[in-house]
Amino acid sequence: MTDGMTILTHDDISAVFLAMRSCIDDHAGELTALDQAIGDGDHGINMKRGFDAVMDDIDAIAAKPLPDALKAAGMKLVMSVGGASGPLYGTLFMTLGKQLPETFVRADLAGAFDAAVEAVAARGKSERGQKTMLDVLHPVAEALRAGQAPEDIAAVADAAAEATVPLRALRGRASFLGERSIGHMDPGARSSALLIGSIARAASQIGKANLS
Ligand code: ADP
Ligand code: MG
Repeated sequence: MTDGMTILTHDDISAVFLAMRSCIDDHAGELTALDQAIGDGDHGINMKRGFDAVMDDIDAIAAKPLPDALKAAGMKLVMSVGGASGPLYGTLFMTLGKQLPETFVRADLAGAFDAAVEAVAARGKSERGQKTMLDVLHPVAEALRAGQAPEDIAAVADAAAEATVPLRALRGRASFLGERSIGHMDPGARSSALLIGSIARAASQIGKANLS
């Protein structure tokens, strides 16, 4: 993994958001089924609504410098996702936008992602180990800091989502189930792993592997 400067063009930004939307589309049914087991069954449709809203405006979003594009996408997610996950994913993207310089090196990306995960934790009043998206986002932040390659970071994210299965939910709707939340993967952990995987693949395809 090299540590050169990365700058994303309009087309790169479009490609990354398109990859996220396609992946959410492909897995919306699975996210819904996971949320039916321990929530209210809307996570697939919430995520799809959010990324469809981003793509509806992708030309304007991707025309902006990367920090502003990330902030604009985050605002779209806050406004359109609904559910607990909307403000949390919105916070993730908006904080990335605030923290990431337009031209960045791996250390900038790792630092910005750390700050974004901290902001999600503050927004959700949650921490790692409570069976939420943070159980994926935290290990991904660590893998980024450690300089792992995109495909390895995607594998870390998948394994981290899988590792939420035996946890008892302590935040969000699933926490209302108490012990009965044990034995199911957290839907937000799964959607986070899907997003990380799609970003990692897109970064490799556009030859900007520093992105992930
Ligand atoms: P809702 O629970 O309002 O129906 P979603 O179904 O879209 O919203 O999203 C549920 C996901 O949001 C959970 O699986 C979990 O990962 C995440 N989540 C919920 N509350 C929190 C929180 N306080 N902190 C972090 N993540 C949370
Ligand atoms: Mg739900």
